[in-house]
Amino acid sequence: MTLSSIAEHCFNVTRGYLSLPDETAFISETKEAINLTRHQLMEIVFKHWDPFSKQISFSFNGGKDCQVLLIIYLSCLWEFFMQSITNSEFPAQYHRFPFETLPTVYINREETFETLESLIESTRIRYCLSIYESPRNQSTMQAAFSDYLAKHSETTAIVIGIRHTDPFGEDLECVQETDSDWPKFMRIQPLLHWKLANVWSFLIYSGEEICGLYGLGFTSIGSVNSTIPNPYLKESPDHYGSFTHKVNHFKTEQNMSYNESQREGIKVSSVSAKDLEVVRSKEDTKFFPGWYLIDDALERKGRI
Ligand code: ATP
Repeated sequence: MTLSSIAEHCFNVTRGYLSLPDETAFISETKEAINLTRHQLMEIVFKHWDPFSKQISFSFNGGKDCQVLLIIYLSCLWEFFMQSITNSEFPAQYHRFPFETLPTVYINREETFETLESLIESTRIRYCLSIYESPRNQSTMQAAFSDYLAKHSETTAIVIGIRHTDPFGEDLECVQETDSDWPKFMRIQPLLHWKLANVWSFLIYSGEEICGLYGLGFTSIGSVNSTIPNPYLKESPDHYGSFTHKVNHFKTEQNMSYNESQREGIKVSSVSAKDLEVVRSKEDTKFFPGWYLIDDALERKGRI
């Protein structure tokens, strides 16, 4: 894949989602969420920063939120390129997609699951990311971003997949400057309004491979030492004797997935033997997959 072809693919995936029948409230709400993100990127962000100027970088750590945002960001990049062709006096054959790789930053400070590392690597190849990976010895996130900015001084804005329901996410805005104790750049946060259910719904429809740890009951992934499968997904009834929140709400998205091969089963990356061992050493019960959980308040119950 080239960046141009994967951006076109992401555009088609996003358009495919927007034309799904409104069979569930999740689908109609997710369409609204996509449309708002698209509006923010196309009408606000790309009007201020040319997305092909290298002023904008993408922050990526292999998690589900930045994966959703990556697909929609690339979709908008394709749309922006197509608009530039339409507005040009020169015919389409004289236009080339201006980027070959997407400037991306990954801060790797903690002990990371091998499975997540492998997904980041396969994502790098599939989505043509030029990933800057911070050296492991960075003391804080701030120091790691300072180091990135020192090496990529053209960067003035960084796209981040944070949501309002994340810790400290409640009062954030789509475009805002970093706090005073951070290195200076503009934070571009076009996923703030997304709920957990919207994230699963879109990812499952997309048919793109997601991190295998989600298949083991993880719902948010931190470092090896600080993350376990979400206890609310244990394959046993809850304390009311009920399984109410342990169902797959996204059967329509799966049955109508953009990727026909995913209709048989959701595409998760393979989990490394070492990670399986780590998970089994902490938990000996079985868990439903992460996408069975849609309550935002419980999303981080596996982060310790
Ligand atoms: P999950 O919660 O399932 O792990 P996620 O990692 O995408 O998904 P968060 O952990 O809430 O979501 O992080 C929010 C966003 O912050 C990410 O989507 C990413 O854009 C950015 N981010 C977080 N950690 C890093 C990191 N180590 N390197 C680069 N970007 C990061």
